[in-house]
This record gives sequence, structure tokens and C-alpha cells, in this order.
Amino acid sequence: MFDTAIAGSLPKPEWLAETQKLWPQWKAQGDSLKQAKADATLLWIKTQEDAGLDIVGDGEQSRQHFVHGFLEQVEGIDFEHKVTMGIRNNRYDAQVPQVVAPLRLKGRVHAFEAQLARAHTRKKLKFTLPGPMTIVDTVADRFYGDKVKMAMAFAELLNQEALALQADGVDIIQFDEPAFNVYMEEAADWGVKALERAAQGLTCTTAVHICYGYGIQANLDWKNSLGQEWRQYEKVFPALAKSSIQQVSLECFHSHVPMDLMALLEGKDVMVGVIDVASDIVETPEEVADTIGRAIQFVPKARIIACTNCGLAPMSREVAQKKLQALADGARIARERYA
Ligand code: ZN
Repeated sequence: MFDTAIAGSLPKPEWLAETQKLWPQWKAQGDSLKQAKADATLLWIKTQEDAGLDIVGDGEQSRQHFVHGFLEQVEGIDFEHKVTMGIRNNRYDAQVPQVVAPLRLKGRVHAFEAQLARAHTRKKLKFTLPGPMTIVDTVADRFYGDKVKMAMAFAELLNQEALALQADGVDIIQFDEPAFNVYMEEAADWGVKALERAAQGLTCTTAVHICYGYGIQANLDWKNSLGQEWRQYEKVFPALAKSSIQQVSLECFHSHVPMDLMALLEGKDVMVGVIDVASDIVETPEEVADTIGRAIQFVPKARIIACTNCGLAPMSREVAQKKLQALADGARIARERYA
């Protein structure tokens, strides 16, 4: 009851990359960069284990950004000539690569870090990939001319990598779809279908993470514009409840999401966000336990996984470490309290 996990990303140590940035520059190159990524991955696995988390991940230490890390191994994408594009419905500008030809994988994308992580932990291992709809929202299309067609093309590639990750021994494959909270109608219409295509044939646990983004200023401003009740999940959860995806990660603590929306996910495991990633204030274990206590009104206890609201990548390492500890300690209190 109340297993604990993180959404995905963790801060990169200062010897690996620039800190507190969403698109940080690496601090090394070639073989020394590869070694630094490996060292950071092992460091975070140990930190997650020491904190007492039940499900661990690589902390996305080997990718510069959660979407572009995948795209670097895709043929048909021009990374040399990035363009500025408004993403997440123009919430903020990003430098994005362009799709210029049919998409194909150049080879494995995440074999190195997945196999490394698997070799060094006996805990359940979760691995994250960007979802097709979010990828489509984070590249410039100069070739397909059709969002859905391009999303399905990406979904096929994601599926190839996901099946390979499963063969590497990954227990849970999670697709990150923050775009679902921005294009709600399209998410319910074709986003979930593209997601299912990406997860096709997987026998490991499948998950999707839908959030209100990292704690960067553009997202904080956006959240402030959403009013007192954030009902974005209401449109896509019914479609997800009918889908084959098994776990759903959502934002909860400090958000304005009405908690009863979780009840729309009947039959799914729910990763409840009990840690705010937009604030450096570290939650107390009691606050974490209280949030879990509110969630059990809408989700069966056995289906709740305590999680972070989103990735912790742009935070300081020290704060992130303390938040992991609060997460594990809070879940322990909740287990005793609500047993
Ligand atoms: Zn997120």
C-alpha cells in the first residue's frame, strides 16, 4: 500500500550539466560525458534507495531534455537548424528541431542508462519516454503536414524503444504527456490512441504522466491564469479510463485540481502528486500523509502510489533530495495511519 515513486527527472549534478535549467548545457564531451552521465545515474539510484522509495528511475540524467533526448536518436529530424516555436499552446518559446523527412530510429535510444540502472538496483525500475502528442508539440513539422499522422509515426518509434526497454528489464514504462492538459479535446480524440500505439504489445506495467509542467516562471504564470478550479483532467481521464494504460500520474498537492476528478480513473493505479515541484519549500512527512489521506476518498488504497507532481529537474539537488525523503517518510506515516 502507498508505494512511492518520482515522476521522472531529477536535478543534474553541477559536474554533469548546468544546474537549475530546463535545457542545460553538458559540462563534458565524448567519453567523459558518458562517464559523468553514468556516475550521476548511479548516484541518484542510490539516493532514491536511501530515501526509501519503492520504485526508482534513472532521473533522466542522460538526456538534456525529456523530449529532445529521445529525438536525438531519430532519423528525419534536423537538429542542426533549430527554430524558435511557441510550445504548449504558445505558453513559452522553445528552440526546437525540425522534422524534415520520414521518421526512423537510428538505433537504441536509452539502452545505456536503462541497462546500467537495471544492473544496479533490485527495486522496481521505472523508465520514462515522452508521449507522442507532447513530442508533436515540441518539434517543428516541415514534412508530415498532419499532427495525427506525425504523432502516429512517433508512436511507432516509441513503441520500438519501449519494447527494447522492457527486454532490458524495465518494470514500468511511463509516457509523459503534459500536452494532454493543454489540448484536452485532441488528447481525448487521438492523443490517447497514439499513446496506446506507443504502448502496444508491452507486458510490463504501462503509465502516463500528465501535469501542469515544471516549476518554471512561464508555467507558474499559466497556472495563475487557470482560475480556482483546474478541470483539465476531466476531459481526458474518461478516455484514459477506457484505455489499456495501467497507471496515471497526476498533479495534486498545492494544485487547484479538484480531488474528486481522480474518481474518473476507475480501474487504474493512480500516482498521486504529493510533492510540489514548483516550490523549494520541503513538504513535511505529515503533509504528504495528509494528501494521501485525501486521495483515499476517491481512489482505493491499494491503487495509490505516492509520487511527485512532476519532474524535479530544474530544482537544486539539496532540495530535491529532501523532497524525496519527505515523500518516503510521508508514505510510511500514511501506511500506519490508514492501514
Ligand atoms: Zn510533468
